[in-house]
Amino acid sequence: MRLKHLPSEFQEALPILKKIKAAGFEAYFVGGSVRDALLNRPIHDVDIASSSYPQEIKQIFPRTIDVGIEHGTVLVLDGEREYEVTTFRTEDTYVDYRRPSQVSFVRSLEEDLKRRDFTINALALDEEGNLIDKFAGLADLEQQVLRAVGIASERFNEDALRVMRGFRFQASLGFKLEENTRLAMTSCAPLLEKISVERVFIEFDKLLAGPFWRRALLSLIESGAYHYLPGLKDRGQALEQLLEETKSDTQFKTSEQAWASLILALDLTSARPFLKAWKTSNDFQKKVEDLVSIYRIRQQGPLEKKDCYRFSWDLLELAEQIRQEAGLEVNFDLLEQTYQSLAIHDKQEIVVNGRLLIEEFNIQPGPDLGRMLKELELAIVEDRIPNEKDAIMKFIKELDHE
Ligand code: ATP
Ligand code: MG
Repeated sequence: MRLKHLPSEFQEALPILKKIKAAGFEAYFVGGSVRDALLNRPIHDVDIASSSYPQEIKQIFPRTIDVGIEHGTVLVLDGEREYEVTTFRTEDTYVDYRRPSQVSFVRSLEEDLKRRDFTINALALDEEGNLIDKFAGLADLEQQVLRAVGIASERFNEDALRVMRGFRFQASLGFKLEENTRLAMTSCAPLLEKISVERVFIEFDKLLAGPFWRRALLSLIESGAYHYLPGLKDRGQALEQLLEETKSDTQFKTSEQAWASLILALDLTSARPFLKAWKTSNDFQKKVEDLVSIYRIRQQGPLEKKDCYRFSWDLLELAEQIRQEAGLEVNFDLLEQTYQSLAIHDKQEIVVNGRLLIEEFNIQPGPDLGRMLKELELAIVEDRIPNEKDAIMKFIKELDHE
């Protein structure tokens, strides 16, 4: 098959392919970009596979970055754009089900395509738009099937991350799992415990972001693979609850919102230990934890000014959306009004600062001052006093005499 119109992303990258070829090597577009082009979906990264070795690529292009030389990958910089150029390789010995213990560079495209996970990801395109399809990936694309390349059980045994990748491609594409692939994903799922949590997180996070996340989560539940994910052992019912308690067309707006919804379905008292087990960043943990807190405060009734003051607008809105997707009563207008009507949104906006209080009232810096400022902040937020110097001085004077 030949693609008559190469998408612009490929057109722009053509000079790179041509340069590698002019130096006497083979070079092809491979992986996700070819799949997405055939599906008429937006292309993000154009990856290139080549028979040239990293050192050879570095000689061809003046601007390169070593991003993974040991795996054969060099980043080629071309104006504003960058392309990963990876040497054809096989991953021959997997001793611990994770990363290949050894990567061997090979000079044949077919060998390289063989080690890829799914047939739809094992397609290559040459500079004329000819499709190289050694594993009937095009037919699987047309029939919307996710099928492992080669013998499924061997492929998932080699690298169990592929089990999670299978579910996540289901979430992004909405494809069915081919039967042998599904069975092998189920039987190899226990090996997920051996995979680095960070890599599994990336795939699970992409799963939740996908338009067909419900279908993918259902497959994950049915396969029992969740037992081997951090904090999810024996939590199949809670995962089902997430499906039952969200609308059939729910799409999470952000990753934090998805994980907060998951934590609410799991009914965890504290979000932190779970998110720590997933080795997420502190910033991520804080946002998800805040979302869960807002949601739980909101369960008691409309948010008050002091609640709105504690959190950013983004999070307040995301938490209200979680309610909406759960079919609960919502009031975005009231929420916005309460937020907008706050006299201050940050303590920096208080017209009087700690230094002035020290000078005027002869207070020593320390915990007492800290407490006073906190009380002052709350009084302003709750509109008990205006954010004006005279009123603040009077308020502090009265506090000081208590
Ligand atoms: P996305 O559009 O989400 O980036 P992608 O298919 O490009 O999807 P990547 O994770 O970027 O996925 O990987 C690029 C390509 O590398 C895949 O299409 C696949 O051919 C191959 N690949 C990536 N990870 C694996 C793996 N664990 N096992 C086998 N092949 C893999
Ligand atoms: Mg990609």
